[in-house]
Amino acid sequence: MAWFKKTRKPIASSTTEKPSRVPEGLWIKCPGCAQLIYKKDLEESLNVCPKCTHHFRIGAAERLRALFDKGEYVEHFPGLISVDPLQFTDTKPYRERLQKTIASTGLKDAVIVATGRLDTLDVVIAAMEYTFIGGSMGVVVGEKITRAIEMAHDRRQPVIVISCSGGARMMEGALSLMQMAKVSAALARLDRARLPFISILTDPTTGGVTASFAMLGDLNIAEPKALIGFAGPRVIEQTIRQTLPEGFQRSEFLVDHGMLDLVVDRRDMKATIARALRFMRTEPAPMAEPVPVAVAAGASLEPPR
Ligand SMILES: [Zn+2]
Repeated sequence: MAWFKKTRKPIASSTTEKPSRVPEGLWIKCPGCAQLIYKKDLEESLNVCPKCTHHFRIGAAERLRALFDKGEYVEHFPGLISVDPLQFTDTKPYRERLQKTIASTGLKDAVIVATGRLDTLDVVIAAMEYTFIGGSMGVVVGEKITRAIEMAHDRRQPVIVISCSGGARMMEGALSLMQMAKVSAALARLDRARLPFISILTDPTTGGVTASFAMLGDLNIAEPKALIGFAGPRVIEQTIRQTLPEGFQRSEFLVDHGMLDLVVDRRDMKATIARALRFMRTEPAPMAEPVPVAVAAGASLEPPR
């Protein structure tokens, strides 16, 4: 049964676009500076506009490839799949929506959990996929992130979660909201074991994801100009009956107001994470490794005269 129905058809657009003479897909128009960018150049700069640094949205697998050394990682729990516990239907049955999304994305749900090396450090990374039902957190996403944290706990490795989500998955109702508590509890355990958790917030990170693990990092790092918030600006304006300030709910605004720690360009993200992890574990950076001194039996540490 559908909750809402459109009684009238939406107005059809009357404009017919001229066929382009440029081959499809070679050039991309940047929404930030309206300039044309060669697609290969864009891919080489991790989908950041080389002219205005506009950050294009990228998928979870692409993010993992950018962070892990040589782009190599091992995926974990790829088989977990939602069982549609409420047999929910909105504009179409949830089960059908799931099947279609699985077919179009090649993923079983909206997160990929992977282990590997980031700048030679062993880490566990969970990256969310926005194209999978808006990166929404249902039972499977909550379970996979929890397992990622538990795996890091058992292996004594740091966890990095890259959020990109519209919030909790309402097709799974209260069960999706329970994931907020579950993931947060796993993070508390990780914290007691004194293991670092770095949260990366990308455009967009909203709803139940912001309200739970995305804001619980030992370090909360956002990409530039990412939309980060709990409720949307219109809902807030209607509730508090005030006009919201310019740039509200964007990364830079949130850093200025103490909600986040850093805004980092995607191209510097890997180096920043590695530096932070080494700082947290007080490990020397590879460049600054002490020169090995041979202290054989009887050898003197006195400088030679
Ligand atoms: Zn641009």
